[in-house]
Amino acid sequence: MYSAKTSEPYMNAYNESRVLSGIVFDIQRFAIHDGYGIRTLVFLKGCPLTCKWCSNPESQNQKPEIIFYEEKCIHCGACIRNCPFGEGLKDVWPDTLGLCTGCGRCVEECYAEARNLAGRLTRVDEVLDEVLKDRVFYEESGGGLTLGGGEPSFQADFATAILKGAREEKIHTAIETCGVAPWKELKKLLDHTDLLLFDLKHMDTRKHEEGTGVGNEIILQNARSAVEHVKEMILRIPLIPQYNNDSNNLHNLGSFIKNELERLKRVDLLPYHSIGESKSKRLGKKYPLSCVKQLSREEIIEAKLILQSYGLKVKIEG
Ligand code: SF4
Ligand code: SF4
Repeated sequence: MYSAKTSEPYMNAYNESRVLSGIVFDIQRFAIHDGYGIRTLVFLKGCPLTCKWCSNPESQNQKPEIIFYEEKCIHCGACIRNCPFGEGLKDVWPDTLGLCTGCGRCVEECYAEARNLAGRLTRVDEVLDEVLKDRVFYEESGGGLTLGGGEPSFQADFATAILKGAREEKIHTAIETCGVAPWKELKKLLDHTDLLLFDLKHMDTRKHEEGTGVGNEIILQNARSAVEHVKEMILRIPLIPQYNNDSNNLHNLGSFIKNELERLKRVDLLPYHSIGESKSKRLGKKYPLSCVKQLSREEIIEAKLILQSYGLKVKIEG
């Protein structure tokens, strides 16, 4: 039976987990992808991979970073004057010199709104307050919360506390993972996850490393473990021209999924788009695929047919 006395330890644990903080770089409401129904997407900062085609390059570094909209800048110099590292600088922004700590002072002082801070320290209860605003839409559409990034398990305790809090509020939970994490950390999140969106890029570990900076061994092992552990798992394959859309890789993927991920619900193909290019520029980063063209409809269908030939359910996303 409920009593203030017996509930006290539970309430302490509950409150402690809700004041945990982590670095969040975006929260998007009313999303209709990355899971079922209408969802709120919470993007955590920090990722062990550096995928060349990354559509969220601001997610890779765990530290807050400045996004600079050069076309809005009126060269008033307020950012430099207010930056702790700005002394003596002229027409050179401190965030481009590797000195930036992400304090955000320059963002506050920029009246032209040419600067934005990607990544803010945010508490679990602040995230949940935002997520709970749309409860009625989740109930009507079968939606919920999706944690993405970046890699949510990179901030495992923070991510786990968000998922646990959402579950306590009876909100459907999903996470998107690149699969690179010690199984112990990933499992913490999966224990509070209804739907797992698991990314896989290449079956050849050298090619995987070439495209993402990391080999695929731990990813394949985590995929095998995760599919047995979660209620529902969807495998997501970004389809990148001249990288992983060759028939050899697609047949190897089909064979791996059919033979080793039997409980998998579906494969989603995510055809390449170059949205990461302009974002990379605003972060002062190079975009390695600037010459790569998007795939044709025929190439996307061909990839789908190869995977379907292994008896898999395949959906083209985007
Ligand atoms: S404060 Fe804003 S508008 Fe002024 S120089 Fe800096 S970025 Fe440009
Ligand atoms: S975020 Fe802080 S450290 Fe970075 S450029 Fe702006 S004022 Fe300087």
